[in-house]
Amino acid sequence: MKRSAKDCFCALCRTPRKLRYSRHLTKLHYGQIFVLTLVFSAVVYPFISWKGLISLPVIWAIFESVHKSLYRKDLQCPYCGFDPKWYKKDVKLARQKVEEFLKQNPDTPVLKRAKLEETTYSQYN
Ligand SMILES: [Zn+2]
Repeated sequence: MKRSAKDCFCALCRTPRKLRYSRHLTKLHYGQIFVLTLVFSAVVYPFISWKGLISLPVIWAIFESVHKSLYRKDLQCPYCGFDPKWYKKDVKLARQKVEEFLKQNPDTPVLKRAKLEETTYSQYN
């Protein structure tokens, strides 16, 4: 089992969550970037000599963009569809995305819990 980067709760449905990716690259990623740059430079050395080291910023940018997209994908709650990044940008759009998610996933545990709370509340009142 892969180690999670952060344990947290969803801000909307309060479900405990584990984020797999951190916001920034880790030491392991920087090591991978370094090794990949060295391997690429060694492969292209006969053709362009040490100019192959110029691939470092390109490889770094690819790592950053892939990691950012994985982090953004991981940020969205799998139970209610709430995305804090969208909430920060546009509250109405974030609300619309949650409603769409709940329409597409009618058997999500969040809706079952809400219905259960509703019936329990109506039984005692
Ligand atoms: Zn949620």
